[in-house]
Amino acid sequence: MHGYTLVQPACPVKLNQNECPFDVPDEIKREVLDEAMGRNWGRYPDFVPTEVKTRLGERHGLGPDHILVGNGSNELIQATFLAAAGRGDRVVLSVPTFTVYALMNTVMEGDLCQVLLKEGLTFDVDRLAEEAAKPRTKLVILCSPNNPTGSMITPEEVARLATTASGLVVVDEAYFEFCGVSSIGLLEHFSNVIITRTFSKALGAAGLRLGYLMAHPDLVQEIEKVKLPYNVNLISLIAAKRIIQEQALIEERSAFICSERQRVFDQLEAISGIRPYPSYANFILFEVDRSVHAIFQGLIEQGVLIRDVSRYPMLDKAMRVTIGAREENEAFLDALREVVQIVE
Ligand code: PMP
Repeated sequence: MHGYTLVQPACPVKLNQNECPFDVPDEIKREVLDEAMGRNWGRYPDFVPTEVKTRLGERHGLGPDHILVGNGSNELIQATFLAAAGRGDRVVLSVPTFTVYALMNTVMEGDLCQVLLKEGLTFDVDRLAEEAAKPRTKLVILCSPNNPTGSMITPEEVARLATTASGLVVVDEAYFEFCGVSSIGLLEHFSNVIITRTFSKALGAAGLRLGYLMAHPDLVQEIEKVKLPYNVNLISLIAAKRIIQEQALIEERSAFICSERQRVFDQLEAISGIRPYPSYANFILFEVDRSVHAIFQGLIEQGVLIRDVSRYPMLDKAMRVTIGAREENEAFLDALREVVQIVE
């Protein structure tokens, strides 16, 4: 099988992983470390991280029994695959999307059914509904906003899929904060919907590896059975509790990224030969009318690292740039304007 790989030359401007350009503020780091200093590192963390589950639940109007905390949201996606999809089971995936889902499916030896986005890179809900209804379909995986296209699926469309699906419907909302549209409201009505969120994007804590899953308590219980015990370390649990108190900061930073997204989009549109797609996330997908590889390399030579996504289905002319701090976005736009002059 092919592994999940990452080509990452050192570049001063790093806009390739959809991270948050702003670090966790020093005073919060200090508080977290102070609390960690007072704990015995020789002991395991809590068997069930009840306090973090309770606070995350409160954030979304849910009880702690609706929540599972993970070592990044990727761990919870993996646990969902382990719990729900075995050899030969159908897994329906809207593509192009985040490559980890197909990787998990390969590990589980599932029968992957890939449904292409429509022209314009919107979700093909009719085809997804058709495939979701087929017997032996254990999982339907949707990423909204979708990485790497920035497309969004509405809760009404997810509800339609959850109604027709013969199995579970997973909505990966890693980029929710840059979009504001969530399928969380469906959890009240559908016991087969799972939503995953992460601390790695808008919450600016990718290095701590924190994510969470929300679903009906019965489903949470089943997924918990296959998740490794003590999956989140004690320092990350302390940080999770502290970071989610910073709602105002999270909103302020997300609003800034969204306004920069609009500015970068407008500037990209003004460059001849570049076609950006509207995005609901903290990145923009754009097509180029010449060699993607040459532009990618040219940007690296200018000290700017973005993502070449030209190997994804439908995206053979596309690249993805993360929205960073203002100076980083400027550096990217300046470099791109220069590189397109040189590359044939
Ligand atoms: N889901 C999507 C759609 C992503 O793009 C990413 C990060 N690239 C993740 C999940 C990973 O999240 P985490 O860091 O929480 O494992």
